[in-house]
Amino acid sequence: MEKLTDISVIKALMKKHGFEFSKGLGQNFLINPSVCPRIAEMGNAKSGFGIIEIGTGIGVLTAELAKRADKVIAIEIDKSLIPVLKDTLSEFDNIRIINADILKVDLSKIIEDEFESLEVAVCANLPYYITSPVIMTLLESRLRIRSITVMVQKEAGRRLCAQMGTRDMGAVTVAVNYFSVPKVLFNVSRGSFMPPPNVDSCVVRFDIKEQTPKGVKDEKFFFRVARGAFSQRRKTLANSVSSSMGIDKELVIKSIENSGLLPAIRPEQLTMEELINFSNTLKNISKL
Ligand code: SAM
Repeated sequence: MEKLTDISVIKALMKKHGFEFSKGLGQNFLINPSVCPRIAEMGNAKSGFGIIEIGTGIGVLTAELAKRADKVIAIEIDKSLIPVLKDTLSEFDNIRIINADILKVDLSKIIEDEFESLEVAVCANLPYYITSPVIMTLLESRLRIRSITVMVQKEAGRRLCAQMGTRDMGAVTVAVNYFSVPKVLFNVSRGSFMPPPNVDSCVVRFDIKEQTPKGVKDEKFFFRVARGAFSQRRKTLANSVSSSMGIDKELVIKSIENSGLLPAIRPEQLTMEELINFSNTLKNISKL
């Protein structure tokens, strides 16, 4: 097998198949040979596992996943990469490539059809323009997956993996911590890609919780409150929630106090338990 991190190999493949990079599709391919084996090893690519890969490029990570896991389902939107992948991954018989948009495929059906007796994990060097929607969809759809290991922009990684009650947190932190235990695994410099992006990256892993936090009376309302709380940075919880959700400020303050919190508390000071209590109380008091 040719070395897919080798720039001359990539250029020869591009020439042979008439392929050109698309900036719009976030095509920055990995050329640092140490990165893909680390993603595969830290991302549960091992015996007994089926892996879903998002965005194959020329298959550099796909190959490392297929060497270690029982099966790989690789989803790539760019039709012009399919003949390249047939070429580069021809020696593997445990890879299925699906030419589709990850945001439009039915992942629960894929998992049911393809990974019947296998545990499932997601691994990807994500196209950055869809980082949040992909991660949110994967988490919220409660798929039968053990972990999500993805390369994201360094800043996004810090936000996604922030702990509750810290300055870096936002609405996305609440969702991530609700469904998983997040962790930044390692940093990757911009020079590790061809073409190099304008920012550095990091690889993060979300270990999916078997049980989401207890005590949430209405999950939909809870996430509305979380989004409302973080909709206006640097405002107090009372101001953010009352203006974004259109609830009388006095009622919001009453709910804050009845939850045992100080009226001037800021959203980034909340723990998960406190946010759950507040959302339950607000629902009761506001009758929403
Ligand atoms: N895995 C390869 C690597 O590490 O070199 C490529 C990573 S590149 C950052 C992102 C890949 O995702 C590209 O191949 C791009 O065409 C693909 N992609 C972009 N949008 C996508 C979408 N909505 N669904 C599936 N794949 C997508």
